Amino acid sequence: MKRTASSSVDTTPDCTSPTAKRKRQPQPSSSLRQSSHWSMGLDASMKDPDMVVQSDELTVTIKDRYPKAQHHYLVLPRQNIKSLKHLNKDHLSLLNIMLENGRFLEEKLKAEDKSLVFRRGYHASPSMARLHMHVISQDFVSPCLKNKKHWNSFTTNFFVDAESVVSMLEVNGEVSLDKVKYEEMLTLPLQCHVCREMMPNMPKLKSHIAEHTISRKKTAST
Ligand code: AMP
Ligand code: ZN
Repeated sequence: MKRTASSSVDTTPDCTSPTAKRKRQPQPSSSLRQSSHWSMGLDASMKDPDMVVQSDELTVTIKDRYPKAQHHYLVLPRQNIKSLKHLNKDHLSLLNIMLENGRFLEEKLKAEDKSLVFRRGYHASPSMARLHMHVISQDFVSPCLKNKKHWNSFTTNFFVDAESVVSMLEVNGEVSLDKVKYEEMLTLPLQCHVCREMMPNMPKLKSHIAEHTISRKKTAST
């Protein structure tokens, strides 16, 4: 499949949440508010050339606006599929193309930095509208990764690997995830995703995982 890639450069993200930004700005009328609800932000980013990193006939890959790691992207189908719940077997080839495009991007980034490790997958209960697959490096070094909910959404089973979603669809013909069960995972105690050590708070966790990243880089350069 023909892919178009942009030569965009990673810049320091502005991690201020849309809610905090809204509080600082004058509020528009309620009808305007409805048409630009924050949960629809991915639609706007798909149309923003500064956000798009690669695209083809069926998918668009964008930068995550609030990246939770050094490299964090979202692969979206051009077709507006609302969520995992709306998938059926007819979507299998599309999901495989999304997976392949995620892997393609990873390989490009890994060619520049051999220490990078990635996962690609879906949040069991996402906050943003329309289907999107995360492609995220496993360093989790980012000022936007701020709290337990962020951490657990990428390091517990709340993060469902893209390959598992494809298998579920192949076997069951649908992807049915128990929202309540998965949302409980967001409150689990903090645990390092590499060595499984329990961490008392976010600052300790962040300096602990930074050490794992440093040793991965050292190993990759030897
Ligand atoms: P989730 O819905 O939980 O799968 O996660 C949605 C992801 O979208 C998060 O990682 C956010 O940082 C990211 N995000 C939120 N708003 C935007 C936006 N306007 N453009 C790009 N990414 C966004
Ligand atoms: Zn550890």
